[in-house]
Amino acid sequence: MNAAGRKVAIVTGASRGIGAATAKLLAAHGYAVAINYHSNTQAAQAVLHDIEQAGGIGLLVQADVSQPAAVKPMFDAVEQALGTVSVLVNNAGILHTQSRLVDISVERFEAVFRTNVLSCFLCCQEAIMRMSTRYGGAGGVIVNVSSGASKSGSPNEYVDYAASKGAVDTLTRGLALEVAAEGIRVNAVRPGLIYTDIHAAGGEPGRVDRLKSKIPMQRGGQAHEVAEAIVWLATDKSSFVTGSFIDPAGGL
Ligand code: NAP
Repeated sequence: MNAAGRKVAIVTGASRGIGAATAKLLAAHGYAVAINYHSNTQAAQAVLHDIEQAGGIGLLVQADVSQPAAVKPMFDAVEQALGTVSVLVNNAGILHTQSRLVDISVERFEAVFRTNVLSCFLCCQEAIMRMSTRYGGAGGVIVNVSSGASKSGSPNEYVDYAASKGAVDTLTRGLALEVAAEGIRVNAVRPGLIYTDIHAAGGEPGRVDRLKSKIPMQRGGQAHEVAEAIVWLATDKSSFVTGSFIDPAGGL
């Protein structure tokens, strides 16, 4: 809780898509929200504008969360401006052009794992040092944004991305058990096909519409539908839930 009586949340990759929807929904629930982004300053500013227009509190924090040297300064800046962090949403994630595994370069594999897994590991470390009752903290909540790809494996599209999300699932479960008695809950969401920019990065902006007939609910999801699950996991409404997964995926 900060001086204004608001809990403080950091959402990584909050300039666009699921992260942006989550930052706005957390702000609407009264959280002071740090909007982390990598390079799209204009999109991040638009998220901050929306939060402030609605009477909320936000803070822009540019940082490449895949870089070890960037993560501690980001947490320090947020704490200085907003107060002690009690919610971390590890949402930043990337994928690259649809390919078979044999065509994926080592450089690409490493970049995907750095952004999708190392960032989650680094931000969790920082959060735990500040939240854990073991280190004098007052507790907190971590929500990781994994993917249904961790179960499907994404053959012929991006096995590297799917494997990185498998790592996020395992990290979520192991860390949740490690800190369960230290006042920290750790859970994850595994979205299915959601309408965001990420599919254009894979080379197919219309991917959700191509595949939607394979979704039991016969439609793609919206970012705000994932944000609802993330925010539920972030609040005390899920106070007895840890080490768990919610799959906002229309039945996939
Ligand atoms: P998106 O629309 O492409 O947005 C990605 C966000 O991550 C942007 O805000 C981007 O910042 C940020 N980002 C990327 N690399 C970063 C880095 N190194 N440091 C800080 N921020 C970084 O993606 P999305 O679809 O909302 O995806 C969000 C999460 O949901 C990802 O983890 C993704 O794997 C997961 N997911 C998405 C879907 C789906 O269908 N959309 C399904 C399952 C899981 P900039 O704007 O500055 O580039």
